[in-house]
Amino acid sequence: MTSAALEIAYIHSEKYVSICDKHPKVKGRASMVHDLIESYDLLSLMKIVAPFEASCNDLLTYHTEKYIQTLEFVEKRLVNSIESHEEDCFNEDEINYINEIGLGYDCSLFSNIYLYAKAIVGGTLSAANCLIDSQAVVSINLNGGWHHARTDEASGFCYVNDIVIGILKLLTKFKKVLYIDLDVHHGDYVEEAFLYTNKVVTFSIHKFGDGFFPGTGMKNSIGKGKGKYYTINAPLKDGVDNKMFTYVFKNIFTEVFHCFSPEVIVVQCGADCLTGDPLGSFNLTSEALVDCVKFVLKEKVPTMILGGGGYNLSNTARCWTQVIAGILNTTLNNDIPEHDKWECYGPDFALSFNPNHKKNENSLEYIEDLLSFLKGNIKFMRGFSKNEISI
Ligand SMILES: [Zn+2]
Repeated sequence: MTSAALEIAYIHSEKYVSICDKHPKVKGRASMVHDLIESYDLLSLMKIVAPFEASCNDLLTYHTEKYIQTLEFVEKRLVNSIESHEEDCFNEDEINYINEIGLGYDCSLFSNIYLYAKAIVGGTLSAANCLIDSQAVVSINLNGGWHHARTDEASGFCYVNDIVIGILKLLTKFKKVLYIDLDVHHGDYVEEAFLYTNKVVTFSIHKFGDGFFPGTGMKNSIGKGKGKYYTINAPLKDGVDNKMFTYVFKNIFTEVFHCFSPEVIVVQCGADCLTGDPLGSFNLTSEALVDCVKFVLKEKVPTMILGGGGYNLSNTARCWTQVIAGILNTTLNNDIPEHDKWECYGPDFALSFNPNHKKNENSLEYIEDLLSFLKGNIKFMRGFSKNEISI
């Protein structure tokens, strides 16, 4: 192992992957991603850190007690019903309440729901600890990145908000956190959690319009109170390509980095922004995400890399494997090595994939107007001293 290897921590254990594999909307994705990374022999280049399981108190740093108790209750009932072969494990009132807090539709119930919640939060907290204890300069938890979960409600396939809990942990050491959200969906509840503070900048670049979920993230949502100008939203339209996406990203990131000087950075790498994602509408390939992540790492600030959406499972695995190769500054053969899940990558068994012919609905004029508006706001965040930071 080289000394560079010690600087990059990859959160992983077999148990962790098997728990994360159970997420109903991305079933089996965790092992598919990990196996592809392993097939390219990338694990030996990183420090493998087994995550701990988060405690109830860890979850309560963001979520309400009632919500967490409900996750625990649902898990117990579902496990009991499986063991006793009973079909109706909830009465009508219970079902109504469960539905009211966002569980049961987008966020389907599953028997390991509470264990899963503790696992992914534990994964992101483990990644945060690696940076806090200076064990690594980059820490990676590809099973984290669930930005839609609210304090008391599941939303958009997100059961718990590991990102907010991870950022709160980072704030115990670092004074200024930059959160970057590359997922095709707006990072709504990370933004909401830090809307009033100037200690955390949230920067989300996402699809907006046509009733697209979650329907927030307009450019004029810029933060409130002491947090005014510390929220940045870059709403884009369908079909954005690599060149335009990275142009917007690099312009904004450069300005924010210069004005805010973050002590630590968190990047949510949602892969539903890739071409061909069943829920997305952008036209990106892995190169765009790799380019953005490498651009961030050039600043040599401690950085936590998280996963997020990504519903074309094979393309998500391809992309995140390339992101890791990018972080490690290594190049990969385009022929995917044979491994247990090799058949998932047919018919070409290639690591790269191409954009489609979708029209880019974002005009250059729209992009320049957006950048000019956002850069104008970012300038206002410059130059605060430590005693001006809100509590
Ligand atoms: Zn998403």
